[in-house]
Order: sequence, then C-alpha cells, then structure tokens
Amino acid sequence: MINKKLRLVIHGGAGNMTKLMSTPRSIQTHHKVLQKALTTGYAILKKQGSSIDAVCAAVKILENSALFNAGYGSVLNHQGKVELDAAIMDGATLKAGSIAGVSRIRNPVLAARLILDFSKHVMFIGKHAENFAHRHGMKFIDPESLITQQQLKKWKEVKARKHQEAEKHGTVGAVALDCNGNLAAATSTGGIINKLPGRVGDSPIIGAGTYADNKTCAVSATGQGEFFMRTVFSYDLAAQLHYKKISLKQAGKIALSRLADLGGRGGFIAIDKQGNIEMNFNTQMMYCGYAKENEIIIKI
Ligand code: ASP
Repeated sequence: MINKKLRLVIHGGAGNMTKLMSTPRSIQTHHKVLQKALTTGYAILKKQGSSIDAVCAAVKILENSALFNAGYGSVLNHQGKVELDAAIMDGATLKAGSIAGVSRIRNPVLAARLILDFSKHVMFIGKHAENFAHRHGMKFIDPESLITQQQLKKWKEVKARKHQEAEKHGTVGAVALDCNGNLAAATSTGGIINKLPGRVGDSPIIGAGTYADNKTCAVSATGQGEFFMRTVFSYDLAAQLHYKKISLKQAGKIALSRLADLGGRGGFIAIDKQGNIEMNFNTQMMYCGYAKENEIIIKI
C-alpha cells in the first residue's frame, strides 16, 4: 500500500549559541541551506524515491556547506586536523553503514551509504574506510580542502584559550519516511572541536547517534556525543516505542531526560512509523526543520 505521509526532518546541530545567532544575516544564511536540504530531499520522496536516498541527499547538502560541522567546514581536532564520522541506517532491513575518523572523503554520508549497500560489515575506520569508499568509486581529496579559515581561526582561539568557544554542535542529520512506509536515518559530523585524535563520537555509532527501524522510528541525534553513547540514546528512544505503548514525543522526552540526568546536552530529530515528527533538545537552540505535505518549516 502506498504511504501518503511523506516526511523529511533535518537538523544542523544543537547548542548554546544565542550570541552567535544574534545577527539576522547568520540566521538567513543557515535558513537558506536548511531550506535547500529539505527541498532537495523532499523532492526525492515526492517522486516516490526511497527514504535512504532522501536522507543522503539532504545530508550531502549540509556537509557541503561551510556553516555546519560536517564534511567541508568541520571542526579541527587537537592536532588541527579534520576527522569525520558518519552513519546511515535503513529501517526496512536494519542494514547500516558507518565510518569514523576519515579525512580524505568529501561526503562521509555517501561513504557510509556505500558500506550499507556493498559490505557485509557495518563500520569501517580511518584509512580502511577511505579505501573502501575509494574502491567503490569515491575520489580521495586533500584533507586540507575540508578546512575553512573560520574553523582554523576558532581552533587557534580555543587552543590559545583566548575565549571559551560557545557550545555549538553543528553536526547534521536527517530522517525520512517514504511512500513505501520505509524509515531511514543519517548523521554526519566533524565531532567536537579540539577533540583528541582518534576520538569517535555518537554519530557513527548505530543506536547512539543514529537509528532507524520501520517497526518504531528513525532518529538522528546531536550534542555531546559521549552522553549519547552512554545512554544509547537513539535506540533507547526507539526501544520505548517497541516495548511500551508510548508516543514518540513522550519517548523522546524520557530519552532526553536520561541524558540530562548524566549532565548531557543536545537534541534529536525523529519520525515514527505513523509519520509523527519530533524535534527536541535541552540546549538553548537547535537548527532543524521538516517537510511534509506541502509545508516546509525551519526552526532556528
Ligand atoms: N554528537 C557529535 C559528537 O559528539 C557532535 C555534535 O553533535 O556536534 O561527535
């Protein structure tokens, strides 16, 4: 049966960044990219494309924008290098692909997708992840080409402890529900500024920062990764729908309060199998938005 409730929800990270967001210009530029990601991904769903294709397309646009902490424009680690993580999951099959600690790939979400499509394994790290993607047709890039002047400046300031970096988690993610009732989720990130080399966050960990199951919901999270890993956040949210009679909203609240109990901050986006949408966070703000029927809503 054709599912008429097409849904696409995206986020561009959560954080405490009221100061940063005070200029209307900055809001406008973020708005524009989020709008493009939603329009592009939703067009795929409208043409009866799959939720997996829709989340890939939306996340790719966000990765290519210097405004978000994913792909181009990612934060720098302790050594001033970019190390990227990403994951994607198909709710119909529970197949997933994930990469961590890569720097020679322009669009990590597409590399994660290659793993989902072509590997019996779920997760690859570092140069092995890059080589896998390369063997499947992706070009290697110069890691330096992912670094923006703005991120370099921020990193230098953080290193020199000139100022306390505003807590900003510019990770990107998308969840979608397609015409066949299939859910999918994808998340991509540069992690946390000045992180130690080799540190992996929640985004590429299936069940922590990313999860999708047609029986329950699709989730993509953002925030202090360690807390999302320790609470297995995305699976925790989905599992509540599986084992209890509870709404998506309520399950999201409970998952977020478990995170907060540990002192964790961040947010998430989710869609359940009925097409309900949830976007919630315990930071001051989260860049997010959704497309459904004929409306596109963006919240900053
Ligand atoms: N969750 C990401 C990480 O810990 C960071 C973020 O969402 O900005 O790697």
